[in-house]
Parts: sequence; structure tokens; C-alpha cells
Amino acid sequence: MKRSEGLYIEYGTTRIPFILEYKNKKTLSIAVTPDKQVTITAPYESSLEKVLEKVGKRAGWISKQIRQFESYEATLLHRKIEYVSGETFHYMGRKYRLKVLEGLGEEIIKDGRYIKAIVKNKSNQKNIASLIINWYRLEAKKIFQERFERYSYILKREKIAVNQLMIRRLEKRWGSCTEAGNIILNLSLIQAPIQCIDYVLVHEICHLKYLHHGPKFYNMLGRYIEDWEKRKNRLHIVRILE
Ligand SMILES: [Zn+2]
Repeated sequence: MKRSEGLYIEYGTTRIPFILEYKNKKTLSIAVTPDKQVTITAPYESSLEKVLEKVGKRAGWISKQIRQFESYEATLLHRKIEYVSGETFHYMGRKYRLKVLEGLGEEIIKDGRYIKAIVKNKSNQKNIASLIINWYRLEAKKIFQERFERYSYILKREKIAVNQLMIRRLEKRWGSCTEAGNIILNLSLIQAPIQCIDYVLVHEICHLKYLHHGPKFYNMLGRYIEDWEKRKNRLHIVRILE
């Protein structure tokens, strides 16, 4: 399969970047995925000129798809979390129901399909929220570290030095890395399936070698996480913990 990146079409005042893949097929097809990535698949023999012309004709449709995913993403990411009984919470890709119970101590217990919050005062929402976020944080520390160790062979193989793995509440990104060689993962990721956590982690590891999103970066990412695009798309279940 041949693949070209860095292409774009103009629509109004916006530039829409897309990835072009040539495959053994008869017709051109366009896909817009929830991460707003546009992928054009064209037959091997089609010229770039022809492809651009065809994509240009569908620019309106493509732009509409992107806008739809954007508004969907915004409402999904920032859905208000109420921290009340019956509300759904995700933990490592699984759904759990919150059950707020009054008790003597204060703790969070994962029990079957429930996340039980034991609190002294059921009406103190703020306290319930911080209890749950603290619990997520403890779980994230454990799980993210485990996954980091699982992928540390990449560091050795690629001769990458990592300083520290950190967990932060990021608003708009799943992860990032710093010049000092620290990898930062979004606490909210603990809600995602393990495959997604791994994807973000390896994505950031790759950035320690390549700071850009160029072909070398994607080459490396694809070598370690072959189906990274699929995993990236599954991240949409995650809500931002505020
Ligand atoms: Zn990146």
C-alpha cells in the first residue's frame, strides 16, 4: 500500500488535511473518522490531479462530517459529571454504576458492576467527586506504571531515555511529553480500555524520539502499535474528569 501525507484541500477559508492511500480497488472512497482524520483511498492508477478534483467536489460533505464530530466530541468530553447514584462511570473501558452509600468511613469500592462510594454524608457532592477522582488517580498510578513497564523494551531498543512518567488532569490532550524526557498521561485515560492507554503511552514514547507527526513518527508508532488508528477512535468514550 502506498501512502501520502501532508496533502490538503481548501474549503472556504479552511484547509482540510487528508491522508491518501492507494489500494488495489476500482473506486475512490472517503472516510472521516471520529478523530476527524480524513482518509482517501484511491485506485493505484489514479493521478493526484484526479484525486484532488474528486475530493474537492466532496469538500462540503467532508467539512460537515468534521463539524459533526467536533460538536459531538465537545458535548461528550465535557458532559457534566454529577457524581450521583445511578450515574455511569467508565473504568478501563468497562461501564460501572455509581452507588453512593452512607457509612462510617470514606472509601471507594469496585464491586461487580458497581463503583460504591461510601461517604459520611451523601449530600456532599464535592466530597464524593474528590473521593472518586482520588480513587481514579490511585488506579491510574498503578495501571499506567504497569503498562509503562510492559513497553519499556521500546526504550531500550530505540535508545530513548525517559525521565519520569507523570499523571495530570489535562483538558484537551491525552498525553504529552517534555523536553526533559517526561511523559505525561491524562488522568482521564484510566476510563479507557487498556488498548487505548497503551496507544497513548506508545504515542508519547515515539515523541521522545520524533517530536513531530511526520512519516518517521507514524512509522515507528505503527511498528509497535499496528492498529493504533482503531485504538485512537475508541478514546471517544472518555469523559474529561474536571
Ligand atoms: Zn502526538
